[in-house]
Amino acid sequence: MALRLFNTLTRSTQDFVPLDPAGRRLGLYCCGPTVHDFAHIGNFRTFVFADLVRRYLEFKGYEVQHVMNVTDVEDKIIHRVAQAGGTLKEYTAKYEAAFFEDLDALGCLRPRQIPHATEHIAAIIALIEALADHGITYRAGDGSVYFSIEKYRAGGGRYGQLLNLNFEQMRTSQRVASDEYAKDAAADFALWKARTPEDGAVFWASPWGEGRPGWHIECSAMSMEALGPAFDVHLGGEDLIFPHHENEIAQSQGAGRPFVKYWLHGAHLLVEGKKMSKSLGNYFTLRDLLGKGFTGREMRCLLLTAHYREPFNFTFEGLRGARAALARLDECLDKLRTTAAGATAAPDDNFVGQFTAAMDEDLNVSAAWGAIFEWVRENNRLLAAGQLSALQAAAALAAWDKIDAVLGLKQAGPSAAPAPLLALLEERQAARKAKDFKRADAIRDELKSKGWTIEDTPKGARLKPL
Ligand code: AMP
Ligand code: ZN
Repeated sequence: MALRLFNTLTRSTQDFVPLDPAGRRLGLYCCGPTVHDFAHIGNFRTFVFADLVRRYLEFKGYEVQHVMNVTDVEDKIIHRVAQAGGTLKEYTAKYEAAFFEDLDALGCLRPRQIPHATEHIAAIIALIEALADHGITYRAGDGSVYFSIEKYRAGGGRYGQLLNLNFEQMRTSQRVASDEYAKDAAADFALWKARTPEDGAVFWASPWGEGRPGWHIECSAMSMEALGPAFDVHLGGEDLIFPHHENEIAQSQGAGRPFVKYWLHGAHLLVEGKKMSKSLGNYFTLRDLLGKGFTGREMRCLLLTAHYREPFNFTFEGLRGARAALARLDECLDKLRTTAAGATAAPDDNFVGQFTAAMDEDLNVSAAWGAIFEWVRENNRLLAAGQLSALQAAAALAAWDKIDAVLGLKQAGPSAAPAPLLALLEERQAARKAKDFKRADAIRDELKSKGWTIEDTPKGARLKPL
């Protein structure tokens, strides 16, 4: 069966047909994090969605060139560097490392290429030059280079492909950022920002003098450098549709390149009905959740329960629900392993087929979970009745392995407790050694309040979910 995906570009669910005439290889670009702070779990909803798309395309047999950039130069970052002192790299390296730690904890596969804006300045400059050659840029009074939407449209370019725009309204109602006072029209955007004293040591030489790239051009340049002028899938959170992705299209097509076939956008993670965001202060980082005793795997499972185009409310009740669902699944898998007793068999096609039918329909995870929990119930029934042979159990497990290559919920090993809790466990062992039993007991109680119990094994103490 063919995979169908909702394409923001056509506003419709379409059969997925890659550009590769052989139908095998495809390029996927996901706008990556701006490394100015710890990412919150709203951001990670989008990255888990990107991971799901990549994994499902691989499951369908495609060879996926998955690229995610790191935005390591941008207004907020420069502002923070100026406050913190030190170099841009020193500042961003810390948050970048934290981002990838969290991405790993959430079971996301590493993208195959991770370009950094600061390492692709030459490609960015070359693209701005191509746009200048096409006559759709202009210099502002401060030396910055802007993209002219009017000239782009006059030359036949379509601005407003991802959403319908009212150009009259845009001219009058868009707020003009203070550092962009010099542009001709409100919706024009900076390709190259001239150096200002506030930029400190963050600048590069260019044909237009010292300065730095605008955010939108970074993604156009890096995606096309990695994947070529036309590639298959571009994705991000829905807030990126406008202006970021619209501007990416304008920049790439303005330079005469066809750009992207399928645009996918993930809905936001909400808190009490509002977008989780730094500016509203209503956010949790993954670290916050690990500190409360939850695991990255539980958070991933929770994020995967919602269809990517549905806004989804984050609640701790939901997260506890994901914990319970995983426990049910793990228990069934453990029993299947015991019954299979090392036997091997081809995957149960029926179960894989149900999962595939659900996911082919624009990644319908709700239907996929329905099939999974029906499968768990049926296995539990057969196991309880002693009606499952070793070979049948092995076929069930082989099917689960195929499905889990998409879901990425690999069953946790003994050290699966979140890192802050493992640190507490170590502290308890040290307290016991020092005969500080009061402290050791207090730690045990704290761990218990976070849903973990200490189990003594011949290899030492370890944490088990309660
Ligand atoms: P940023 O680091 O701000 O550039 O954002 C990284 C990604 O997170 C982008 O794809 C955003 O669209 C996405 N994002 C931001 N907030 C949310 C949210 N509350 N829910 C889902 N995705 C989000
Ligand atoms: Zn981008």
